[in-house]
Amino acid sequence: MPSIAIVALGVVEEDALATLELSVWETFGFEIQRLPPQENPEFAFDEERRQYSSEKILRSLLKEVRSDTVKLLGVTPVDMFIPMLSFVFGQAQLHGKVAAISLARLRQEFYGLEPNRGVFLHRTAKEAIHELGHTWGLTHCRDRSCPMALATNLQQLDRKTDELCTSCSIMLRETVRSLHRSGYRS
Ligand SMILES: [Zn+2]
Ligand SMILES: [Zn+2]
Repeated sequence: MPSIAIVALGVVEEDALATLELSVWETFGFEIQRLPPQENPEFAFDEERRQYSSEKILRSLLKEVRSDTVKLLGVTPVDMFIPMLSFVFGQAQLHGKVAAISLARLRQEFYGLEPNRGVFLHRTAKEAIHELGHTWGLTHCRDRSCPMALATNLQQLDRKTDELCTSCSIMLRETVRSLHRSGYRS
């Protein structure tokens, strides 16, 4: 059964995974398969930056893609980076199979604020939709309330909703339809 697989890389709370499964299913319309959780991605740890390379994480996720994996989303509590940025909320292969999101900077606690579960879960859903959207070929959207809008900080992320705008939805639907025709091969 073609499905979108979700895998925890490190300890991820059940409510976060359940929220992700629901919103990914609602947005992309594929069965969700939860893979057995893995350890923190220590192989991606950068001694100098004390953060985790999202590129290395994506590369390792690629090895876990099976023939019925439409997309694979890794979810990790660790803080991710790419060389040119101080951090990333997530990263994905454009038109590819794999995406990863970091929960580290989605928590109010990270900024010295009171924890807020609702806010955290909402951000988690939006970030997952954003990165998986890239794997379907969606690029950054100019509609600031669309989850495909670029967010390099929390204010931009909080301005977004978890529902794709009309033009992103149409593009997604077309891509998914052509994938159905091609029989899910990448
Ligand atoms: Zn993006
Ligand atoms: Zn959009």
